[in-house]
Amino acid sequence: MTIDKLMFDLEARHPGETEYLQAVKEVLISIEEVYNQHPEFEKAKIIERLVEPDRIFTFRVPWVDDHGEVQVNLGYRIQFNNAIGPYKGGLRFHPSVNLSILKFLGFEQIFKNALTTLPMGGAKGGSDFYIKGKSDAEVMRFCQAFMLELWHNIGPNMDVPAGDIGVGAREVGYLYGMYKKLIREHTGTITGKGLEYGGSLIRPEATGYGGLYFVDRMLHTHGHDIKGKTIAISGFGNVAWGAALKANQMGAKVVTLSGPDGYIYDPDGVSGEKIDYMLELRATGNDEVSPYAEQFGVEFFEGKRPWEQKVDIALPCATQNELDRKDALALIGNNVLCVAEISNMGCTPGAIDLFIEHKILYGPGKAVNAGGVSTSGLEMTQNAMHLSWPATEVDNRLHQIMSNIHDQCVKYGTQPDGYINYMKGANIAGFMKVAHAMMEQGIV
Ligand code: GLU
Repeated sequence: MTIDKLMFDLEARHPGETEYLQAVKEVLISIEEVYNQHPEFEKAKIIERLVEPDRIFTFRVPWVDDHGEVQVNLGYRIQFNNAIGPYKGGLRFHPSVNLSILKFLGFEQIFKNALTTLPMGGAKGGSDFYIKGKSDAEVMRFCQAFMLELWHNIGPNMDVPAGDIGVGAREVGYLYGMYKKLIREHTGTITGKGLEYGGSLIRPEATGYGGLYFVDRMLHTHGHDIKGKTIAISGFGNVAWGAALKANQMGAKVVTLSGPDGYIYDPDGVSGEKIDYMLELRATGNDEVSPYAEQFGVEFFEGKRPWEQKVDIALPCATQNELDRKDALALIGNNVLCVAEISNMGCTPGAIDLFIEHKILYGPGKAVNAGGVSTSGLEMTQNAMHLSWPATEVDNRLHQIMSNIHDQCVKYGTQPDGYINYMKGANIAGFMKVAHAMMEQGIV
């Protein structure tokens, strides 16, 4: 494999898809060495097949707003790879959504899902619809119109969507309601469902919980204790909420949260009622964090990112490329111990290079945030068995899965000098599983 040639061809074929090209390049660099030790992979064109989605659906989503006006959004579903299980991955509703972003997310999802050890392929979908400022009735009408197009192409053994940015319990409920009406079956085709109709306990907090279980293992492996550590978190949605809850339970202190408007710094720690407040604020459709500062009398830094604060641990929990080289330099200058992405591709390649160069403990999203989709996998299992497990059962399994992912990263990512390159480890472990599955299934 020659990375330059592969990337050149891919760029020519998909010009301007920067996030997608970024995600592919990161994986190619990590796996180059092992790939070249397997001439059979090259012969079967595993990489050339893996980087192109199996298929992409794009569709128009027309709906009528509360003023009687017709609105038109775009909808997508990318079925990337189903070598190890049904297509699985979330739906993102956000104005930034485009083909490049969904392709990067779908590509990452293949390896993330492979790491979970559960039988799930990779997919992603979504729309440029913006939840902010929409009434409940508008959100419902949009979700129904979206599902009217998508339902033919999903199913419990075919493709199982879930939530992501802008798609939480409410949206999943409306999407599932329409799906069920059209197909006239009650199956586990969407995960992240409400508890009353097939959802799993722990699923809402799973991404954040899983992230903290992973960070705990990282620290422990390097002789540190999470207790008493200070943590900077970005975002304040479902992911940040679960992360803050678990960080508090583990005895750490979360000092920042952020939104598109800036970040807050709370030296006493985001805990107790403040965590509930976050979620309530979010549920109103608001995505700005400044009301927290007013409510609890803490400092608000307009238009800034939390990475300028001195903390032991930095946890990007919002969106892609939210921590760049400049932020990485600030964190390193402040002696950060660990940076772990609970968001997908939270750090830019320049930032990752710096963390690795400075031997900072760096955990990539596809390993650190795999707890969300893992628990979705456990929801699928429960749905298939027509039962629901108690919270402790789900949580124990989640814990076990995260430990296992950590150990796979250590196995494949430990460098000759002893430094654990978690990014390399995660990419190699995920890739090898998918590549072997593809090899055994022939050229399809
Ligand atoms: N959107 C989440 C992710 O990035 C969860 C996907 C799922 O549960 O299928 O992994």
